[in-house]
Amino acid sequence: MSSLALEGKSALITGASRGIGKAIALRFAAEGCDIAVNYVTEAGRDNAAEAAQTAEEIGGLGRQALCVEADVTDPLAVEAMVANVIKTFGKLDILVNNAGITRDRTLKKLAKEDWDSVIAVNLTGAFHCARAVIEHMRERQYGRIISISSVIAQMGNIGQTNYAASKAGLIGFTKSLAREVARRGITVNVIAPGFIATEMTQAILPDIMAQIVPTIPMGYLGQPEDVANAAVFLASAEASYITGQVLSVNGGLYM
Ligand code: NDP
Repeated sequence: MSSLALEGKSALITGASRGIGKAIALRFAAEGCDIAVNYVTEAGRDNAAEAAQTAEEIGGLGRQALCVEADVTDPLAVEAMVANVIKTFGKLDILVNNAGITRDRTLKKLAKEDWDSVIAVNLTGAFHCARAVIEHMRERQYGRIISISSVIAQMGNIGQTNYAASKAGLIGFTKSLAREVARRGITVNVIAPGFIATEMTQAILPDIMAQIVPTIPMGYLGQPEDVANAAVFLASAEASYITGQVLSVNGGLYM
């Protein structure tokens, strides 16, 4: 038996050009998985180059990589992306809904577009991706769907009503879908990270971060690799009997 946890599998990871998504992509590749690296074209940023860099690193691990541009808020783009991935790899075993954004403001100041954009990417984006892969997974009687929620879904946070609602929505979505497909060999789970050192948390003001860190029982931020370790487990054969669950990776911040 191979010692690699994901030998011969293929995965689509949304938002995989950087941060947690990239860490999951590289860890999956190290475990023998071919990877579709989703990214989105964004003004003022060369996301294609970052995705190509991730793909190169996956190639360096001996696995196939496919860069696929698609905004997860666009259902047609997502369908085309999934069709491309299945055609290229011949199958799709694992979907990781990782793409996410924040637009933090207290409710008093929260514009409707801040609400809509966060729900559209974080929650509706996961719906588009899951819907695009589910028939393929049902036909093959195999699949792993892992969505990246947040400790904020479990605890709430000032200035994050939109983000918390989107991430809590992912948990309810996951539990319902898990029930729908449990008899089809498909597991559906959530990872709820705490504060992880990425560009997303770099945007938090230093004095706010100085208040956050002491509230983490372990006393430090997690690394993207900490989340990737949990994702490999949920995607692996060892997690075959685990579905509809929320796995917290948060240094003890929420218990
Ligand atoms: P980053 O901001 O570093 O990365 C976010 C990723 O999402 C990017 O790769 C980005 O793609 C992608 N993305 C954003 N919008 C879209 C879109 N419309 N379509 C496709 N992709 C999109 O964040 P993190 O790595 O920190 O976060 C990854 C996930 O983990 C998010 O869902 C986040 O909410 C969640 N999370 C993060 C925590 C943290 O402390 N960092 C804690 C808990 C949860 P591109 O690079 O192409 O712009």
